[in-house]
Amino acid sequence: MAQHFDYICLGAGSGGIASANRAAMRGAKVLLIEAKALGGTCVNVGCVPKKVMWYGAQVAEALHLYAKDYGFDVTVNKFDWNTLVASREAYIDRIHGSYDRGLENNKVTLVRGYGRFVNERTIEVDGQEYTADHILIATGGSPSIPNIPGAEHGIDSDGFFELRAQPKRVAVIGAGYIAVELAGVLHSLGSETHLFVRKHAPLRSFDPMLSEALMESMATDGPTLHTHSTPESVIKNSDGSLTLKLENGESFEVDTLIWAIGRKPSTGNIGLESTQVKLNDKGYVVVDEQQNTTNSGIYCVGDIIEGGVELTPVAVKAGRLLSERLFNGMTDAKMDYALIPTVVFSHPAIGTMGLSEPEAIAQYGAEEVKCYNSGFTSMYTAVTAHRQACKMKLVCAGPDEKVVGIHGIGLGMDEILQGFGVAMKMGATKKQFDSVVAIHPTGAEEFVTLR
Ligand code: NDP
Repeated sequence: MAQHFDYICLGAGSGGIASANRAAMRGAKVLLIEAKALGGTCVNVGCVPKKVMWYGAQVAEALHLYAKDYGFDVTVNKFDWNTLVASREAYIDRIHGSYDRGLENNKVTLVRGYGRFVNERTIEVDGQEYTADHILIATGGSPSIPNIPGAEHGIDSDGFFELRAQPKRVAVIGAGYIAVELAGVLHSLGSETHLFVRKHAPLRSFDPMLSEALMESMATDGPTLHTHSTPESVIKNSDGSLTLKLENGESFEVDTLIWAIGRKPSTGNIGLESTQVKLNDKGYVVVDEQQNTTNSGIYCVGDIIEGGVELTPVAVKAGRLLSERLFNGMTDAKMDYALIPTVVFSHPAIGTMGLSEPEAIAQYGAEEVKCYNSGFTSMYTAVTAHRQACKMKLVCAGPDEKVVGIHGIGLGMDEILQGFGVAMKMGATKKQFDSVVAIHPTGAEEFVTLR
């Protein structure tokens, strides 16, 4: 016999867990269904393990690039990849534990297994049916692999986190967040790393200042960047190495090849054909501004919504707001998808929010847009032989110079952006930025002293 709940969340990733907990806190009887580990992509094969690897890379850079000029005579005997992996996995286990306790405290029922829609009010897991008045689809996505000969010899970002030995020579293919982040980490940890992008630059959709500065940084101290390099095939050699052949005729031999060319939504195998939920031609779920799908009583949040923003905090916020709407009478609650700050954990880190300069010009007209730029050497590195550039930019629009874009690349940008994000959300102008006294000496102070 079917068990009935007020709310079923299909998928215990960032969005599903956040929404389930919030609904339960508001008194709903909630069922959460997950086939894999709690926490989804972010906790298990995304943000969290990536950030641990990035911190590992920071330690490597401190030891190899900066320690000497700060007076430390350091001899590094070896770097043990598996020690870093073990520390990372232990940390993730602790997060799983805290999720378990959170769900238990909130009295969310957790069912482990693969859930599929039987009809618009019923989900089946291993032969058991569960019904609910409201059902959330929060099944997330998975990495894409290109359709070229030998693509299966490469791994994806999930495979990167399964590596139990450090690759000596590695090719990373792609031009987005994941490619840039993984290539930076691998390079800093000592792998010979090649980043292949099919156009002229990585992070092409970001403000051009950011991608240009990142490429300059890569040229002096980073993975080897290969632009205009589209993969044609991958061949597995008898010694286990791989040969990557490019459409331009070049070929490269590596030990590991990582595809980081985007992600696809996990919506194909969850029985949506038994509902009225509409998918677009790429499998993303069509929703309105309150996360309603085209099937009344079925909602969707996270990386799988059409036109969404694939970031954990976006899924979390959308999931919580949905539960406030459904179970706490906040009938107008909806996620604001405008002005979302984001960080790329590249080397150095990138922080960005709002419009790029070209986007601002397209939106407001060139005569209405004024940009303020700054470039300097990050102080931490200025006293060493490995000087690292920091670049910042404010994009302002209109007669009152409202700040419509903020962009920076450099040490600390990952932590700097959040507070400026609040100011931008409040509609701050350049004058208001300038009214704040600078904190000296920091990198962040540049944003309030730009001329
Ligand atoms: P993205 O969609 O960001 O970037 C992938 C890029 O790879 C494309 O934009 C494209 O760039 C290039 N590409 C696409 N197809 C091919 C191909 N066949 N061959 C070679 N290159 C190709 O995907 P990611 O996988 O990097 O990340 C997915 C999402 O996850 C991100 O958009 C982000 O929202 C999120 N994320 C966030 C992080 C963070 O917050 N720090 C970290 C990691 C991921 P081009 O057209 O220029 O070639």
